[in-house]
Amino acid sequence: MSSYETVIGLEVHVQLNTKSKLFCECATSFGDEANTHTCPMCLALPGALPVVNKEAVKKAVMFAKAVNAQINQKSIFARKNYFYPDLPTGYQISQFEIPIVGKGELVIDFEDGSHKTIGITRAHLEMDAGKNMHDGAYSKVDLNRAGTPLLEIVSEPDMRSSEEAILYLKKLHSIVRYLGISDANMQEGSFRVDVNVSVRPKGQEEFGTRVEIKNLNSFRFIQKAIEYEVQRHIEAIEDGVYEDEVYLETRLFDTQKGITKSMRGKEDAADYRYFPDPDLLVLEVDNETMQVDIPELPDEKKERFISEYGIKEYDALVITADLEMANYFEEVVACGVSGKNAANYLTSELLGRLKKASIFDITQSPIKAQTLGIVIKRVEDSTISGRGAKDLLDLLMNEDIDVDEAIEKLGIKQVSDDSAILAIIDDVLSKNSDKVEEYKGGKEKLFGFFVGQVMKASKGSANPQKVNQLLKEKLS
Ligand code: ADP
Ligand code: MG
Ligand code: ZN
Repeated sequence: MSSYETVIGLEVHVQLNTKSKLFCECATSFGDEANTHTCPMCLALPGALPVVNKEAVKKAVMFAKAVNAQINQKSIFARKNYFYPDLPTGYQISQFEIPIVGKGELVIDFEDGSHKTIGITRAHLEMDAGKNMHDGAYSKVDLNRAGTPLLEIVSEPDMRSSEEAILYLKKLHSIVRYLGISDANMQEGSFRVDVNVSVRPKGQEEFGTRVEIKNLNSFRFIQKAIEYEVQRHIEAIEDGVYEDEVYLETRLFDTQKGITKSMRGKEDAADYRYFPDPDLLVLEVDNETMQVDIPELPDEKKERFISEYGIKEYDALVITADLEMANYFEEVVACGVSGKNAANYLTSELLGRLKKASIFDITQSPIKAQTLGIVIKRVEDSTISGRGAKDLLDLLMNEDIDVDEAIEKLGIKQVSDDSAILAIIDDVLSKNSDKVEEYKGGKEKLFGFFVGQVMKASKGSANPQKVNQLLKEKLS
């Protein structure tokens, strides 16, 4: 057991999926030709004035509702001043003293079924900067992203391990996807995480010194970066060099080497000379926007799946973590199969096969929900056995053919027809008349042997329940 405690607080920049930017009519886009979505506002030409995008405000309000946060019906846009080539205004329009979203909370779920509530400090609207692109001897600036709406969600320093941090991030990711307010694509930068981490001796009340780690674009790197950083702090404490080596700064994670490196000292709020943006009025959320509805969220869906379909809590957690997966599951059930079978086939059979094929997005599954539904139906009506279904799914992963054709092709149709099975039974019993005598003389263990011989003679195609039933009748 470590005698140190890790403390983590997270800042997440979620890119809101509005059609246009936060303060102008330019389209938001990813991957288009550089500087094709710009206007006097994005370029910071003199005289250009910002106009707030109502959709972005609505999406921030939806988020607030999802995390039970207080909504500030009046909030203030402020200028955060700094100089960087991708920021032509010389300031970012953000929110400082009064953000649109105040205190809220988010519940994380551990595998063992327990939960923990993590505080959300605030969430504010701000504009994104452009992108610097380094190209040989030149650096170029693309302003297509400049002015894209971001919702920056700041957590309380409530997490105590990298595991808790990842659970928080996955839950947050899931919630914004459910709300449909962001595509939250980490690779494309629509869900950007800054990790604040510190370490303190167990039992110590005050927090240790925090370090901020930026540029983390996968859950795996986030976990690694935290673990590396925690170790660095512990070693510094034990070597008596904590004050020298751990101080408020921004570090970057080197994904190649698996280490964090110093990037720059940390600015504090005073460095940014925040002040209310004189070009913008107080942001007022109108009553209509306050009434916006939000869809069913992961926790509610999980509870509904448990009560409606009778599936296990853990399966429900796995399935509802991802909206697409939850939709897939309900499509399978809609084929008329039991919820339990749908959950089992989805979580153990299909997900295992997808993982092997390096497919991590259920919408890319070669086996569609309708198809899985038919496979399960064929098991439920005894057309094929559970064993046969496994072979069938293997085939369907690679070939786009009709389920019943595939069953024929594999020759896995179970024989449930009494006369066909009886014929095999008669044959097996007559070939083993000595064992039949022994069985009748009391050696009942032999029953399993007869079942095995019949199954073998049918090449596994006989319905085992039928075989059992008919054998019993024959032998009694
Ligand atoms: P900044 O913008 O300077 O990074 P914020 O107040 O916006 O400052 O964010 C600070 C983040 O750091 C919050 O998520 C908070 O929970 C977290 N934090 C604050 N103190 C600590 C600490 N001692 N250890 C770990 N995280 C901390
Ligand atoms: Mg920060
Ligand atoms: Zn513009």
